[in-house]
Amino acid sequence: PVPQFEPDPSKKTLVILGTGWGSVALLKKLDTENYNVVVVSPRNYFLFTPLLPSCTTGTIEHRSIMEPVRAILRHKRAAAKYYEADASSIDPDRKVIRIVDNSEIKGATSETEIPYDMLVIGVGAENATFGIPGVREHSCFLKEIGDAQQIRKKIMDCVETAAFKDQSQEEVDRLMHMVVVGGGPTGVEFAGELQDFFDEDIKKLVPEISPRFKVTLIEALPNVLPSFSKQLIDYTENTFREEKIDIKTKTVVKRVTDKTVEAEVSRPDGTKERVVIPYGLLVWATGNAVRPIVKDLMTRIPAQKDARRGLAVNEYLVVQGTRDIWAIGDCAVAGYAPTAQVASQEGNFLGRLFNNMAKTEDHEARIRELSSKMNIGSGNSAEAAAEIEKLEKQLRRIKDIKPFRYSHQGSLAYIGSEKAVADVSWWNGNLATGGSMTYLFWRSAYLSMCFSTRNRVLVILDWLKSKAFGRDVSRE
Ligand code: FAD
Ligand code: NAD
Repeated sequence: PVPQFEPDPSKKTLVILGTGWGSVALLKKLDTENYNVVVVSPRNYFLFTPLLPSCTTGTIEHRSIMEPVRAILRHKRAAAKYYEADASSIDPDRKVIRIVDNSEIKGATSETEIPYDMLVIGVGAENATFGIPGVREHSCFLKEIGDAQQIRKKIMDCVETAAFKDQSQEEVDRLMHMVVVGGGPTGVEFAGELQDFFDEDIKKLVPEISPRFKVTLIEALPNVLPSFSKQLIDYTENTFREEKIDIKTKTVVKRVTDKTVEAEVSRPDGTKERVVIPYGLLVWATGNAVRPIVKDLMTRIPAQKDARRGLAVNEYLVVQGTRDIWAIGDCAVAGYAPTAQVASQEGNFLGRLFNNMAKTEDHEARIRELSSKMNIGSGNSAEAAAEIEKLEKQLRRIKDIKPFRYSHQGSLAYIGSEKAVADVSWWNGNLATGGSMTYLFWRSAYLSMCFSTRNRVLVILDWLKSKAFGRDVSRE
């Protein structure tokens, strides 16, 4: 039977914001019997982001990498409450959060407050645009399921419009030019997937426009994938050259219009040149920015005044300047990169910490009870003393929680034409590899990391389906 949520006044209320990598790892580990657990997130599912770029071309169908939060909570020992809502503000003095239902369908109540005893913030980050004019209006991001669906639709719209009767050559060139801004892993993986889609499917189905198809990757720094080793950067750039993906490094986008990107290119002689690049599809992948709710909380806590990229946390992931607020993942600044790997390890750590805290309180309460019994002389005092000693011993072990330490398992990225790059920790050293074997490793690693067996099966079926029948090019 599905457990029903009934808040227990004797337990603390633990509110968890978000259903991403951090919050879901915490939920997985947490013994929900110890707290009244309330989860708030506008997204009623967990999203396996590493395979999101594959959804933009239909290599993988989007529902294969989503796991409903209701299904995740159903397996917990004690019921937890889920509200589909955005947390709009946090009041650390009154210990309440304000939540708003921003979904399409709203009831008579669409805004209210939730009190908390303990709060975990795992709201992730939003897309950085650096205030560059035109970005929000004209480009697609690649962070959420809706973004991938929009890109998939637009790619086919560009193709069909380019194939329209009497389209001028200049317009065909523009429509078939797919521009990606940001040479981090998101931009690189998307560019690779896009080129695959063209080479493997569109070329065959719409041959008349295929010679005009071009992918350009624009990066402000001197090279793509700055967080990978030099050898893998070179390997990626060479593979892209073979795949005919044009990489424009030292090129900073300054303005975007509905049909062009305006960028500043730094030449080897130190001069700067302004270029205008026409595009059909523009994907913007320049990294993370702080969400408004996090910014707002930072202004309310004096100890956060110097924090810039998110909530500064201590080694136990407690938000600096607070006692009962923790932050994990992309919205927290703990000295690590904003990755799924970090977020899930942080969530896992908090799960263990909270389970231990509950055990500590239980043990302390039992010790207090036994001591008072001994003081009034009731029961067998020798037995009670022995139990107290045992409990105190256990308590010392439970209380000895080491601070959070991130253990880096390596970085992986797909770069197209069935090749991937990997920087992995190997024994005590590092191994940097690229190529087709790495691609198989990439596939098996991501498969093993999928949330559920259901996800795993669906992803395998999608891979087989697109290999056997080609990707589906219908424009929904
Ligand atoms: P998220 O996973 O982004 O989750 C945030 C959650 O908070 C969401 O459920 C969101 O709906 C919710 N939320 C937002 N606003 C509010 C609010 N106001 N109130 C309540 N809830 C809110 N990392 C890797 O390590 N390996 C990879 O291969 C990899 N691939 C990636 C591919 C892509 C395309 C992208 C975009 C990212 C990738 N990452 C990868 C990075 C990784 O996805 C992030 O670092 C990770 O998602 C961060 O986890 P999080 O829990 O902090 O945030
Ligand atoms: P990123 O921050 O890693 O890269 C963004 C890139 O955009 C930077 O290289 C930056 O120089 C460039 N840029 C910024 N402004 C620009 C401009 N105006 N013009 C041109 N270039 C500009 O962002 P991301 O790729 O979205 O990744 C975000 C986080 O998610 C990172 O921590 C990354 O490691 C992680 N991630 C990991 C994987 C993976 O491991 N396979 C995949 C995707 C994302």
